[in-house]
Amino acid sequence: MSEMSSMMPDVQEVLIPSEEIQQKVKDLGEQITRDYREHRRLLLVGVLRGAVIVMGDLMRRIDLPCEIDFMEVSSYGAGTTSSGVVRILKDLEEDISGRHVLIVEDIIDTGLTLSYLRRSLLARKPASLEICALLSKPARRRVELDVKYLGFEIPDEFVVGYGLDYAGCYRNLPDICILKPEVFGGAAS
Ligand code: 5GP
Ligand code: MG
Ligand code: MG
Repeated sequence: MSEMSSMMPDVQEVLIPSEEIQQKVKDLGEQITRDYREHRRLLLVGVLRGAVIVMGDLMRRIDLPCEIDFMEVSSYGAGTTSSGVVRILKDLEEDISGRHVLIVEDIIDTGLTLSYLRRSLLARKPASLEICALLSKPARRRVELDVKYLGFEIPDEFVVGYGLDYAGCYRNLPDICILKPEVFGGAAS
């Protein structure tokens, strides 16, 4: 890291350093470039807000004419992720029918959000629909989900950085990090 970051005192452990993330995103970009070469065009759909950083890096590693669009979703109800019902806060600007669509997500936890999103986008009849996620916590999965492009499997720990937040902060940390327990509970200062 980033020893110089003023956020470092809040960090307990760097789980995945920036260099490793960059290498993985480069590999994913090359794989996606190979897989979509014959289609020529690709629409990347980023899930706000966590996927913003991986989207920006990944799209520059894909050597094809790419368009981007974004959705924002939130889990319904008090049970948050447990219900599996997702509300669309911001929908796509693009019509995806007949398009080759790749959903770009920061992390898959239970899988409920992406499972809902996938069903909702499939109903719009894209030519193809695949998922790319930087991180996955397999121990937490509650629904089966076919993730074609996956960066890293991580243990069941709450992580921040590289787009991922705690209470809205830490998205700008370049590494994927675990925060110190004392950071939780108080507002990020
Ligand atoms: P799922 O529906 O797969 O349970 O939820 C996925 C969403 O939960 C992610 O897009 C992310 O917003 C949030 N999430 C799950 N695990 C983590 C984590 O370790 N750190 C952060 N910052 N967000 C997480
Ligand atoms: Mg997300
Ligand atoms: Mg969040």
